[in-house]
Amino acid sequence: MFNSKYLNELFEATKQRNNSQPEYLQAVEEFFEAMDFIVCNDPKIEKYAIMERIIEPERIVKFRVTWVDDKGVVNVNRGYRVQFNSAIGPFKGGIRFHPSVNESILKFLGFEQTFKNALTGLPLGGGKGGSDFDPKGKSDDEIMRFCQNFMLELYRHIGPDTDVPAGDIGVGFREIGFMYGIFRKIKNENTGVLTGKGLTYGGSLVRKEATGYGLCYFVSEMLKVYRNDNFEGKTVIISGSGKVGMHAALKTQELGGKVIAMSDVNGYVHDENGLDLNIVKMLTELAPEFTQQYLEFRPSAIYNSNPTNMWGIPCDIALPCATQNELPLEGAQKLVENGCILVAEGANMPTTIDATKYLQHADILFAPGKAANAGGVAVSGLEMSQNAQHYPWSYAEVDQKLEIIMSDIFRKAYSEARKYTDHRNLVVGANIAGFMRVYQAMLDQGII
Ligand code: NDP
Repeated sequence: MFNSKYLNELFEATKQRNNSQPEYLQAVEEFFEAMDFIVCNDPKIEKYAIMERIIEPERIVKFRVTWVDDKGVVNVNRGYRVQFNSAIGPFKGGIRFHPSVNESILKFLGFEQTFKNALTGLPLGGGKGGSDFDPKGKSDDEIMRFCQNFMLELYRHIGPDTDVPAGDIGVGFREIGFMYGIFRKIKNENTGVLTGKGLTYGGSLVRKEATGYGLCYFVSEMLKVYRNDNFEGKTVIISGSGKVGMHAALKTQELGGKVIAMSDVNGYVHDENGLDLNIVKMLTELAPEFTQQYLEFRPSAIYNSNPTNMWGIPCDIALPCATQNELPLEGAQKLVENGCILVAEGANMPTTIDATKYLQHADILFAPGKAANAGGVAVSGLEMSQNAQHYPWSYAEVDQKLEIIMSDIFRKAYSEARKYTDHRNLVVGANIAGFMRVYQAMLDQGII
């Protein structure tokens, strides 16, 4: 499968040791494919077991979370923190609350996070955490009790120089606030141990917008460099309407693009004249699922109850911003058939491996999540700097830094792609650029 015998043997062994973890194996396979040439040409990687070490988390903490719901019923969930790699800085990565959360999903996310964080140029290692708790339909009190009990265990394993979690699916300002409050109470310290905090207690301006805005800054760079073009007049479809999707939509519109479809778990809405984002924003702020309600405000829009069918809508740009493996091969084929020119991943690993390959072979511009969605963690890194300095920066300052970081990530991925393969292959470029920084740090620090 790979040209490197070492990688083939290691991947077989990894499959056997982790045979019930498909998402983790998918992320490792994609990474090994991108790394094949480098590994074949650098014997130190095998000699120092760099690949064996880099694919194995430094530590996984798994714990019970017990909490009482509004009816007085005692509930038990599983909590996790995967501390993947701290070679270049404290572990850093979001916390996800979703019923699908398990070790495989958190390992794939922590693994990808390691390279994403390296690409930002900031001193941030990789990690991820979460719980199979479902926040949907829970009262604020229930969310608070769950978050407090989750942190009652997690606090032992994190710290501003050890591990700094943030939000992800199902974890936003409200959840971060509850977790930060109990951490501060237990530890009697006001250090920036979480990012994505509220602005009244150490949060950074632009953090909530950062992943979606950063994605659009990255796409702007791609359009400029590869096509001497920009967002102006482009039709854009976006899956997911959460923190990432919503802010990607708003920035798309600000840059002159037209968002013609968006989705949630219940389906998608499509309006070829452009969705009214004020209505989408208002509805998603009231409840996460907005698609059906949108028709009450704009009856001329089209609703479809299968979110995956959205990939069949003709568009110039597609931004998958919901969850892993949401863009399958059939979706990629539809996008190509309908003349899409660019796909950029706002979510983590939303495109299946076969769909990614199909898009690349069809010569569609493709941006992998570990580069394109790094804006969120980049501004989290800036939030850590502001907390350490005890001094907040202005909106314009953070936004400008975000734009520079995203442009820089694009340049790094582009230049490695050009050096090692086709200059359009940002999957290889981003993996190599992220890997090189972690690899060098691991080599310098000896065998640990
Ligand atoms: P949110 O929970 O805020 O939003 C997720 C959105 O995706 C919701 O609108 C949800 O719909 C929707 N969704 C879930 N499954 C599907 C599906 N199968 N089809 C269509 N829509 C779906 O999460 P975030 O926006 O924070 O995260 C989204 C993705 O971006 C994740 O992969 C995350 O790991 C990644 N990411 C997030 C970062 C961040 O800063 N938040 C940083 C980098 C990456 P509903 O509300 O109906 O459930």
